Amino acid sequence: MDCIFCKIANGEIPCKKVYEDENVIAFHDLDPQAPTHVLIIPKTHIGSAMEINEENSGVIGHIYEVAAKISGDLGLENGFRIVNNCGEDGGQTVHHIHFHLLGGRSMKWPPG
Ligand code: 5GP
Ligand code: ZN
Repeated sequence: MDCIFCKIANGEIPCKKVYEDENVIAFHDLDPQAPTHVLIIPKTHIGSAMEINEENSGVIGHIYEVAAKISGDLGLENGFRIVNNCGEDGGQTVHHIHFHLLGGRSMKWPPG
């Protein structure tokens, strides 16, 4: 499958890695929207949040554990935002589920 994030997960495409374990990888976004902008992805291909089910949902909880763990290393003690864009209306451009970990500035609400 021609998926950029599968290729990052298997090392075919390089990335600025922040964290990796058996099931997930976290790396800096190519086009940062905040002083800290890291993407956390499962290594297995899940297209979007619409494809989360009983079989694959374990890794989603793990991604939030990883976010909590790496937020300290990234200096985000003052807080952060986790964003998951899903589908066309959600503004998803890469169709391998990913969680944006954004921090280092005050975030606005509601998002655009
Ligand atoms: P989406 O719009 O799907 O929620 O987010 C996709 C994100 O992936 C964007 O923030 C974009 O900058 C980032 N991105 C796309 N291609 C690459 C890449 O090859 N490497 C990295 N590090 N980030 C990428
Ligand atoms: Zn993929």
